[in-house]
Amino acid sequence: MFIIFENYTKKKKSVDKKTCVKQLKTCSKFSQFVQHVFQTTHPNEKTDDIIDNMFECIECTKPEHKNLRAFYQPKEKKITFCLQRLQEEDICTMMRHELVHYFDHFQGYTFGSAEELACSEIKAAKIGECKDEVFRKKCTRLVAQNNIKDRYPIRYKWIVNKVFKKCYSFFD
Ligand SMILES: [Zn+2]
Repeated sequence: MFIIFENYTKKKKSVDKKTCVKQLKTCSKFSQFVQHVFQTTHPNEKTDDIIDNMFECIECTKPEHKNLRAFYQPKEKKITFCLQRLQEEDICTMMRHELVHYFDHFQGYTFGSAEELACSEIKAAKIGECKDEVFRKKCTRLVAQNNIKDRYPIRYKWIVNKVFKKCYSFFD
């Protein structure tokens, strides 16, 4: 099992399961990117059904998910949201972020190389966390570097910089 993980920073009141699912459905209505992904990967399915099948909002209790807020599992093609570490206002951002990984996987990424993982994190940061940021490019670079830091503690900056230009042009 391979996991794309996001760093977790401690915050206030966490979201409940019902609100999480509801918020996913709301986010998908207002995001061009989410609609594009769903129309490409599930052309004949209703958005609400896709969400019910592809996403889960749970209390993440497994030790390997200790610091995760949300993650995509390529093997199951599922996106998991860890309720205890998320607030309602995080859901849309994390949804877009994880859907980039899902979409990359759909289009043939295996996340097997450092460059491929870095590229996916660059796209995910741009569409997710950095979507509305004034310094979007800078934000994207920093978030992507941070998200591969644990896996590539020495090379993380170098890897992101190497593929940045190519991967940043995604979904303009
Ligand atoms: Zn990611």
